[in-house]
Amino acid sequence: MSGAPQLTTAARDPASVLFSDVRALDPRAGIQARCDLLVSHGEIAAIGEPGTISPGEDAELIDGRGELQLFPAFFDPHVHLRVPGQEHKEDLETGTRAAAAGGFCAVIAMPNTDPPIDSAPILRSLHELAAQEARVAVGFLPAISKGLRGAELTEMVELRAAGALGFSDDGRPVADAGLLRDAMRYQRLAGGVLALHEEELSLAAGGVMREGPTAARLGLRGIPALAEATMVARDAALALAEDARVHFQHLSCEGSLAALAAHKSIGAQLSAEVTPHHLLLCDEDLLGLETALKVNPPLASAADRSALRSALREGLIDCIATDHAPHAREEKEVPIEQAPFGSTGLETAFAALYSELVLPGELALSRLIEALTAGAELFGLPVPTIARGAPANLALVDLQAHWVAGEQGWESRAANCCLAGRPLRGRVLMTLAGGTVAYRERSFAMVAL
Ligand SMILES: [Zn+2]
Ligand SMILES: [Zn+2]
Repeated sequence: MSGAPQLTTAARDPASVLFSDVRALDPRAGIQARCDLLVSHGEIAAIGEPGTISPGEDAELIDGRGELQLFPAFFDPHVHLRVPGQEHKEDLETGTRAAAAGGFCAVIAMPNTDPPIDSAPILRSLHELAAQEARVAVGFLPAISKGLRGAELTEMVELRAAGALGFSDDGRPVADAGLLRDAMRYQRLAGGVLALHEEELSLAAGGVMREGPTAARLGLRGIPALAEATMVARDAALALAEDARVHFQHLSCEGSLAALAAHKSIGAQLSAEVTPHHLLLCDEDLLGLETALKVNPPLASAADRSALRSALREGLIDCIATDHAPHAREEKEVPIEQAPFGSTGLETAFAALYSELVLPGELALSRLIEALTAGAELFGLPVPTIARGAPANLALVDLQAHWVAGEQGWESRAANCCLAGRPLRGRVLMTLAGGTVAYRERSFAMVAL
């Protein structure tokens, strides 16, 4: 590969901050302790017992009072930043601001833009734009097929040289198995991960929500879980045969998990993500016909949701991805059949999962932090970590804080969050990304002054 950047962020002044008496938790680094942590010129310079490190001359002092929690900042391998061409929904500045507000230090953006990200010049121009506007690091998965049309492969080798982390036709499946097999063969030359949105279109076409009793009751056309599971089985088999590196995006049903487990166990190089909304909501939540809850893949049955939770706990699912999919207000203010699929998720991911899975005892906090950071590793990038000498990628969180999702507005340009209005626990107060202060919660900023 050439030296083209795979992650890009706008240059900002490196931060110097002393987090005094905080609770640090980084399961991968084996850190779980009350400590002082000094960030000096953007790097984690020292970690010591509470009360042992002084801020020095130029470091800001943040008093954690033995209560505030410090995590490695999160990594989201699946977001839609809507650039180029759909800036009325989101752009690099607002999307990465939303990411920073959610505690994320890096995101990977999908290519289903207008025009799609399917050539090296478009990819290079996006990295240039990110170097101007991005608050947290941004990487891209350009398209597998030209124009996302599923007919002809993109120039994968050239795209990799221009900084592609991998490839995806997200928003659409690669319907043609032969084309996907060719992509897997090019992957041997190009490297990078093939990230797949799995949807058998002949089964899913025209569907609005998950097929099942709730869809029947509402009289809405259903998308069967099989639409996903059959494609996961097909592509897991292809990946095994071609020894390809494949990542399954936003898995939503038990059938997909079974195919994933079966092929992983015989050596396929597979990984998978799950979204907070598939973990927390289910098809029955659509009884009010709220368009914010219309997502693709659709919210699953309660049984599928509990299978997803188990798979995340047990590690069959590697990571959490928000599939942050912003839309303009008027685009979602239509009858549910006509509304576009997608929900925002960056600003609520941690708090929602903490409130609804960790606090009730369904998921260990350490597993949540692992799953919110593991995406980096899957795409060949350094995982955010709390370690001396590491760049400061840190999320400072008040686990006691109560707030209501969306009550004070959003950092994202869009408001179509399927969790809006939910009471949540755990608030990101500050995010350091790549050694810079990427976010500071407003009320916390006043306290800190
Ligand atoms: Zn998708
Ligand atoms: Zn997506």
